[in-house]
Amino acid sequence: MAIFFNEEFYGHVQDPFHPESPERLRGIVQKLKAHDLWKDVRPSKTGHKDMLKLVHEEDYIEFIETCGECSLTMDTRVHHETYGIAALSAQCAVDAAVYSKEHKRATFALTRPPGHHSGPNYGMGFCYFNNIAITARRLRKDGDGRVAIVDMDVHHGNGTEQVFAADPTVLYISTHQTGIFPGTGSLDFLGKGDGQGFNINVPLASGCGDSTFDLAYKSLVNPVLEQFRPDAVLVSVGVDNHYRDPLASLSLSSDGHLRQARQLLDFAKRNCGGRITFMLEGGYDIPSLSEVVAGMVGAMEGVEVPLEFTDIVDNSCLGRGTVERCMRNASEYWDL
Ligand SMILES: [Zn+2]
Repeated sequence: MAIFFNEEFYGHVQDPFHPESPERLRGIVQKLKAHDLWKDVRPSKTGHKDMLKLVHEEDYIEFIETCGECSLTMDTRVHHETYGIAALSAQCAVDAAVYSKEHKRATFALTRPPGHHSGPNYGMGFCYFNNIAITARRLRKDGDGRVAIVDMDVHHGNGTEQVFAADPTVLYISTHQTGIFPGTGSLDFLGKGDGQGFNINVPLASGCGDSTFDLAYKSLVNPVLEQFRPDAVLVSVGVDNHYRDPLASLSLSSDGHLRQARQLLDFAKRNCGGRITFMLEGGYDIPSLSEVVAGMVGAMEGVEVPLEFTDIVDNSCLGRGTVERCMRNASEYWDL
């Protein structure tokens, strides 16, 4: 296990009242230190433009670099220092996955700003450069045949989906809340062209939590991963699907988050020589964000982190109908 992190990430402040705040990382670091998990922490060097170009158009990269003070959207502002920190966040993700490949170990990249809403020529939803998409492209370029991306964030990763929609070598599976930002992620979209079948969306209604996610992993996420046989797994970790999160209304507990992480770690151990990289996306309730991330890092180390936020809100599988419809759609391409 190794953690990838840069102190510079604390310097990204959109405005003092923004929910995507440096306090999120401070809470995580404090919690990791409290459980003696703040070990083997590796900072990245400068994020290079050539790396960003694996996903983003040159004009867009240059706009972020040179605009000075501007806004991409109402909630995604650019300051003079944004370019350097966002590029470093992408480099942090790439370095974590390359280290995982070289050392056959699970890694966690404490990326900030996040990335999964950013596409080739746009940023939105607190994201500037798509950390996970850049990382997947880098692994492909370095010779991996297939890369799986599992997106746990409560918001659909519209940028990641767009980048790989026609690409059968990168599988994208997203569980997210339906009817909220960014409005994409329909269960009827399974990719396009050669990429058909390699994009799976599970859009869940408000309230869905532990029992629904357990079903989705057991009957859809795990079997598709087994059949796809990736060389590496990349995970967009969003803890904004927690019942405590203020920005959305799914109801996953901290235990539920960790059950997903353990299944993915176990899958990677059995099938990818241990190659799995978790990277941070959203999560705006700092206590639950911190304990879930610490729990995931603990799971990589075989250390049990005691959990406080373990209420089970959804014990009757509120999203069963949705998961079953997703399975029917995906069964055109996968044996489910
Ligand atoms: Zn999110």
